Amino acid sequence: MNYKDDCIFCKIAQGQIKSSIVYEDSEVLAFLDVNPVSNGHTLVITKEHFDNFLMVPKDLLDHVFNVAQKVAQAQTQQLGAIGINILTNVNEIAGQTVKHFHVHVIPRYEGGDGLTIDFEPLQIDKFNLPVLADTIKSGI
Ligand code: AMP
Ligand code: ZN
Repeated sequence: MNYKDDCIFCKIAQGQIKSSIVYEDSEVLAFLDVNPVSNGHTLVITKEHFDNFLMVPKDLLDHVFNVAQKVAQAQTQQLGAIGINILTNVNEIAGQTVKHFHVHVIPRYEGGDGLTIDFEPLQIDKFNLPVLADTIKSGI
């Protein structure tokens, strides 16, 4: 398995740094975020080092998101979450601080928590959307 020496999540994956583990198998680890934005905020990582979401092989990515769903279901059943946010940041501009792929599974509760997601729509010409869709489509 490919690990990086200076990566904190590689160290967590190998058990060299302690974490509060929620789920583990040979490929994936889920553990509590040390600076949670809500009660039970969990990170799901691949044990192998990939810099971010864009780099992860498809089958492994499927597995990570299956685990993320199980974690979210458990947060709902066990902690009383009434909503969930699933988030993965790619690169600094998007807020990625740890450069080892991880998915945030963030339970949401009545009465608020530490997460605010504020979508501020751009003013765009909606006639351009089909052309933009075709541009993206051509890369898939
Ligand atoms: P991101 O900003 O998407 O890269 O998120 C990185 C997350 O990792 C942050 O929410 C941190 O609180 C969390 N984090 C950093 N170090 C640790 C650690 N040793 N154990 C658990 N969570 C950590
Ligand atoms: Zn790593």
